[in-house]
Amino acid sequence: KHYTKQDIIRMVEEDDVEFIRLQFTDMFGNLKNVAVTTGQLEKVLNNECMFDGSSIEGFVRIEESDMYLYPDLDTYVTFPWRPQQGKVARLICDVYTVDGNQFAGDPRYVLKKVIKEAAELGYTFNVGPELEFFLFHQSENGQPTTISHERAGYFDLGPLDLGENARRDMVLTLEEMDITVEASHHEVAPAQHEIDLKYDEALKTADNIMTFKLVARTIAKRHGLHATFMPKPKYGVDGSGMHVNMSLKKDGKNAFDDPKDKLGLSQEAYYFIAGIMKHIGGIAAITNPLVNSYKRLVPNYEAPVYIAWSANNRSPLIRIPAGRGDSARLELRCPDPSANPYLTLAVCLAAGLDGIKNKLLPPESVDKNIFSMPLEEREAFKVHNLPASLEEAVTALEKNDFIKNVLGEHISRKYIEAKKAEWDNYRTQVTQWEIDQYLYRY
Ligand code: GLN
Ligand code: MG
Ligand code: MG
Ligand code: MG
Repeated sequence: KHYTKQDIIRMVEEDDVEFIRLQFTDMFGNLKNVAVTTGQLEKVLNNECMFDGSSIEGFVRIEESDMYLYPDLDTYVTFPWRPQQGKVARLICDVYTVDGNQFAGDPRYVLKKVIKEAAELGYTFNVGPELEFFLFHQSENGQPTTISHERAGYFDLGPLDLGENARRDMVLTLEEMDITVEASHHEVAPAQHEIDLKYDEALKTADNIMTFKLVARTIAKRHGLHATFMPKPKYGVDGSGMHVNMSLKKDGKNAFDDPKDKLGLSQEAYYFIAGIMKHIGGIAAITNPLVNSYKRLVPNYEAPVYIAWSANNRSPLIRIPAGRGDSARLELRCPDPSANPYLTLAVCLAAGLDGIKNKLLPPESVDKNIFSMPLEEREAFKVHNLPASLEEAVTALEKNDFIKNVLGEHISRKYIEAKKAEWDNYRTQVTQWEIDQYLYRY
């Protein structure tokens, strides 16, 4: 859909909109917004809405804090869960500086830049995300807990699960907001759910992921539940991932498909895999941004631990799902839903294009369960490990000039600084595990 200013003015009138939320995402993936009344619509449409950037983490210094919001008109939608008289509409915005330039710290801008580079090579980047999350109970005073009474597991259907109702409402709400849900099901762990969005062009998909998280939280709350995208909220059960299914389109055709190849994949697909594998160290700091992210990336919970790819095995980092033709795609399995979707898709696309431009070839595929391969066999296959901690990932990012360049100087610097501080803070904590293990014995 492409909207003009006139369309927006008409829809705001017809939809009886009272408030407009101007949204953007900070570099850590937090959705931010400022609400204005429709009296300000003209100002909004003329890109004249301002906010104080110095209060947003990782944005700017106090001395240069005025920032402008330029709404992307195509993102207009009303919130179905707000009162239906005097409705609330949102517009996703790009962030600009006072001198009229796109702000280097805006993750949406980073993604747009890589998309433009892909377009110059004739490619459109399509992405379908699979979002996993837990639905936990809230405490009496509305605080989130990690408690659930649910017992259901993978694909289970039953009256047992309170979460089923909440998930159903989420799907309906997303559809009302024009986001197509491909599938939704109960995941492996009790209280864990998955909703898969239909693929779309990367920018739209990143916007959809941000909208999805807002919808999931809002609807869960209405059911007295807390939706969390924390990657590993519970020890001993599966964590939550955000698999991304990626493909390139060129001249109206899926550029990853080639029926003549033995796996049905094009040369570009192999180059793309190689590009991602080459840069994965630096990519992980973006796709797996939290201390907690690395507690998900451990053996035996269907989350990747090793840097490998396969057409028929779910333990590696990159899997080639069964569909070919238009649905030929690569599934990257490391990202988790706490990641900033704009930066995630930007670094993945850039790394894949690097593979294509430099004709990088991937190592042989590893078509068996890597978790049960002894170390010597992994070494023979040259299978390396993904970063095992946020510290390792940030160190890999620091060394990866290519990925830093994709993020730009501003974001790389602030992001690495913040993640180092996060690690340092964590590293010096004394945890319950240590107390339990050591206090009595030593
Ligand atoms: N929850 C698993 C993960 O952490 C994925 C499980 C699945 O979708 N098969 O990635
Ligand atoms: Mg899935
Ligand atoms: Mg899943
Ligand atoms: Mg999957």
